[in-house]
Amino acid sequence: MKYLSTHHRAPAASLAEAVARGLAPDGGLYMPAHIKRLPPYWFAAMEHMADVDIAFHVAQALLGDDVPAEALHRIVADAFNFDLPVVRLASRVSVLELNHGPTLAFKDVGARFMARLVCYLDRGAGSGAPLNVLVATSGDTGSAVAAGFLNLPNVHVFVLYPRGRVSALQERQFATLGHNITALAVEGSFDDCQALVKQAFGDAALRHAMRLTSANSINVARFLPQSIYYFTAYAHLRRAGVRSPLVVSVPSGNLGNLAAGVLARQMGLPIARFVAACNANDVVPRYLSGEKFEPRPSRPTLANAMDVGNPSNLERIVWLYGGDEAALRADVTGCVTTDAQIERTLRNLYHSTGYLLCPHGACALNALLHTLRPGEHGLMLATAHPAKFRSSVERITGHGVALPSALAQRASQPLLIRRLEARFEAFKQFLLAHAALAGQQAV
Ligand SMILES: *Cc1c(COP(=O)(O)O)cnc(C)c1O
Repeated sequence: MKYLSTHHRAPAASLAEAVARGLAPDGGLYMPAHIKRLPPYWFAAMEHMADVDIAFHVAQALLGDDVPAEALHRIVADAFNFDLPVVRLASRVSVLELNHGPTLAFKDVGARFMARLVCYLDRGAGSGAPLNVLVATSGDTGSAVAAGFLNLPNVHVFVLYPRGRVSALQERQFATLGHNITALAVEGSFDDCQALVKQAFGDAALRHAMRLTSANSINVARFLPQSIYYFTAYAHLRRAGVRSPLVVSVPSGNLGNLAAGVLARQMGLPIARFVAACNANDVVPRYLSGEKFEPRPSRPTLANAMDVGNPSNLERIVWLYGGDEAALRADVTGCVTTDAQIERTLRNLYHSTGYLLCPHGACALNALLHTLRPGEHGLMLATAHPAKFRSSVERITGHGVALPSALAQRASQPLLIRRLEARFEAFKQFLLAHAALAGQQAV
């Protein structure tokens, strides 16, 4: 499979090139050159397949022949090693729980798959010198990437985060892991962390001394596997007897998750339509209702992983529609959920059913309740475990939220942190010293 840039001004790339680069040279995002439609007989068979087999078939359709079947099966089975249950909330509303991975959020899917694919594509490269992944994080991406690469061979991850500006629980999730994960607490902002990573990639001496790669959210290797759970969820619903037209409500920030759903639909998955469930950051709902796309600075909300004012993956969605915005707007509508509505939704759901959502899931449920038409079935995606947003959820519902054991265990581990000035020269010297030490250990 070849990969094309959404900006149409870069040459086609191989899978390995697209994964190594992240962003295409023309500033666009990579997309598969062909979208393979799976045949009707496959969909009929899918209803009776195990999740891991569905995942493998979809991954094969997405990646083509670049990864041999046996290796791809191993990558998929290893990446999807946690449950993706579909829970019925009401007669016409179900939840796909994407929050049972190691960091209890849907980003685990993309991060685990990417980590394994990167290691596979890197096999035999660099004659034994490790691959170094640099990732800047404002909180959740760092933990998903760190957990995704944890203990994989011949790869080291450096997580840069703004010291004192991520939650204590977020910090524990990437800064207690040790092994091949180094947490760097930067004396500065998230933007400073991003600038340091960017400068490192541009530094010839550093690139000569060590092999560097990125793991940012727009990488095709993180984006593509997210299509898979739309298929497994559909199979679960069919087995549960759901036959009505399906409406999928996706908590949306940077729109990677939604773009992967639209891709699944173009592969033939019978989804009637999507709802882009946003918080008070309403750039996307405005665009989908017919206004011009106008990025704006984001503002803070209870669903903070979706506080995005200029969503990068909108390009992927527009690309999937060949630029036909009318067709896009017919299939995807937007819905804004304010903080007050998040609170009301969480409280009502908890009091009527005992089920807890995180604030992002509350946006998806609220969007379904406002847009579901008679005769349709609504599927909402739960993108994070309520315990990750414990203080908000406890305050809103008045009910204690237990930390799942994996998270509780992490929370009690000591921090393994290296402090870093927000100065490129300091970062560079740190990386060079690390590379020299790794080199000695290899000898
Ligand atoms: C990242 C994130 C989102 C937004 O996903 P996008 O793919 O960026 O739209 C939603 N919910 C949670 C909990 C997240 O961490």
